[in-house]
Amino acid sequence: MDLKTLLGTTFDCVCGKRHHIPTEKLFYSRDAFAALEQAAAEIIDGQHYLIVADQRTWEKAGGKVA
Ligand SMILES: [Zn+2]
Repeated sequence: MDLKTLLGTTFDCVCGKRHHIPTEKLFYSRDAFAALEQAAAEIIDGQHYLIVADQRTWEKAGGKVA
C-alpha cells in the first residue's frame, strides 16, 4: 500500500480499529526541499510558519528549512 493514499483519511484497519491520519502531505525524496515552499503556501496563507524538529533533524534539515 502506498502511504500517500492514507494521508488525510480515516479508515477501518485490519486490526479492528478505526485510524485517522491527520498528515496531509508527505515529501520523501532528495529534492523535497524544492517542493517545500509551494506546499507550505498551499497549507497556510501567511508569512510565518512553525518548524518542529529535534536536535538531529534540525542539524540535517531544520536549519535549511528555516
Ligand atoms: Zn490498525
